Amino acid sequence: MEISLDFDKCCGAGQCVLAAPEVFDQRDDDGVVVLLDADPPAEEYENVRRAAQVCPAAAIDVRP
Ligand code: SF4
Repeated sequence: MEISLDFDKCCGAGQCVLAAPEVFDQRDDDGVVVLLDADPPAEEYENVRRAAQVCPAAAIDVRP
């Protein structure tokens, strides 16, 4: 799985962190997304895909 983040699009909504807390976090100062694990284990794939779907800014791109 390959995860790409568009930091300019990210509005700090935090939906990705709720969906996949093992993979995403947010910067303390401005809430912009942080990628904790660029190559997550297979059991996280569903959570990561859900995070990409719920991101209101479409800032997360996931490739199989
Ligand atoms: S859900 Fe999208 S906009 Fe919100 S913090 Fe995550 S990447 Fe950024």
